[in-house]
Formats: sequence, structure tokens, C-alpha cells
Amino acid sequence: MLDTPVAQRMPREIAPGVFWIGDCLAQRHKGKVYHGYNAAFLVAGDNASILVETGHPKDFPVIERHMNELFARGVAPLKYLFVTHQETPHCGGLGRILKTFPDALLVGDVSDYHLAFPQYEHRMRSMKEGDEIDLGGRSLMAVEPVIRDLRTTWWGFDTKERVLFPGDGFAYSHYHEDGHCGLVAEEAVSLDLPDVSSTFADLALFWTKFADMNVYCDRLDQLIARLGVKTIAPTHGLPITDVKATVPKVQAGLKAAALMPESGTNEKVAVAAN
Ligand SMILES: [Zn+2]
Ligand SMILES: [Zn+2]
Repeated sequence: MLDTPVAQRMPREIAPGVFWIGDCLAQRHKGKVYHGYNAAFLVAGDNASILVETGHPKDFPVIERHMNELFARGVAPLKYLFVTHQETPHCGGLGRILKTFPDALLVGDVSDYHLAFPQYEHRMRSMKEGDEIDLGGRSLMAVEPVIRDLRTTWWGFDTKERVLFPGDGFAYSHYHEDGHCGLVAEEAVSLDLPDVSSTFADLALFWTKFADMNVYCDRLDQLIARLGVKTIAPTHGLPITDVKATVPKVQAGLKAAALMPESGTNEKVAVAAN
């Protein structure tokens, strides 16, 4: 398994009709190789599919191959692209998706995309909380983004299998050497979820240092209960298939990170004193 890159093991169906696609991204942290995901998910309805997130810019050939494999298997054609927010690991393949799939509409918060891609402005549709995109037998709804990076963020929710797409929520890295790649959170038993969640918050979500994360975690619990979430499909973390058991571990990491001073955004190399 270790020798087979994730790109060759995906797509993985994490709930009926919800396919996890993309690849890992290797980064160094504290002298170790950390893997992160910039995952994308294809949600297939009876008449149309929607792509949630586009993956990292480097992943476009992999994402395109995975989608074409699914379409060859009879999955409904791509009609929509939903991105949680305007950040490269989430929307970095947007222009190429819209170019490659000329029938697809971009949906979600669409602020500023027309400035980068004026040629596709007529294919952008703004969504607000509670708006739904009908895919045939299921829909993708824009829901409250409790843990977010940018103010323009929306989270996605599949109404049929009750899958939550939380963008930067539930973000944590994993260890390639430990065989975590391609596993869901509950399968990666050696992954210390509070630790990796706290590290990700420290490196990527600076505002968690200045907020009472108990309030955000309570709000997260309310959202999960209100929607009846069964599966969580984060962009950077491993998918969560046991919400009750796993969500508290991620929340413990968020709360722990909030109490630590910010460590900076990259591995530091000691500068020799002269
Ligand atoms: Zn992100
Ligand atoms: Zn990996």
C-alpha cells in the first residue's frame, strides 16, 4: 500500500455516490514529512454531478483523470463546481475545470472570480445559506461555515447521504510512512488527531489563537445535530465516517491550539550567531 500513491488508489467512495478524489501534498514540519490533502469530492446525482473543491493546482491532471474514470463508469455528467472559498488549495483548478467541462456552472460564493476569469462570468451563480443545487435525487446545499478561513466561505452539504463538506474545517495532516494515505480517519488508528488538528490550526488558521474555541466547537455540534451529519469530507483532513467518535478528537485539537502561542508558518532553520 505504501508504495502506491494515493492518486492511483482514488477515487474512493466514502458514502453512496460521494467520491473522494485527488492526491497528497508532502510538506516538512518539525523534521518530518507531513502529508496534507487538498481533496476534491464528486457528488453524483441521477442527472448531474457536482465537484466540491478543485484540488491543488498541481493536482488538476489527477482530478481530471479521476473524474473521467467515474464518468466512464456511468456517473452523471459534471454540471456544477462548488468551491468553499477563494483560496488556491480549494479553487486553484477552477479555470481549468470550467474550460474542460464547458457545460459546468460555478456555484457558491463567487466573489472576484470574474476578475480572474471574465470569459466565464456568465457561468457563475451566487449561493447563500440554505440554497440548494438539485442533482436529481439529492442536492448540494450551502450551509453555515463554522470554522472558516475567509469571510466568503460556504460549507456544502449533501442532503441525501448527509455528507458535510467543511472546507478548512476538520483540517489535519497525516503521515505517509505510517500508511495513513487514502484512509478515513477511523482507519488511521495511529494518527493522533488532537495533535495533528492542533498543528494545522496553528499553521493555517491564525484566528483560532484569538477566539474562544469552545464557542466554535459548540456551534459545530449544533450544526452537525441540526443537519444530521453522517459523514464529514474535509478538504485537508481524512474523511470522518464516525462523527460521534471522531469529531470530539478534532475539537480537542482546536481547543489545545487556541491556548498555545503562534509558532509561525514554516519550519524554521536556526540562524548561526556570529
Ligand atoms: Zn484550506
Ligand atoms: Zn498522504
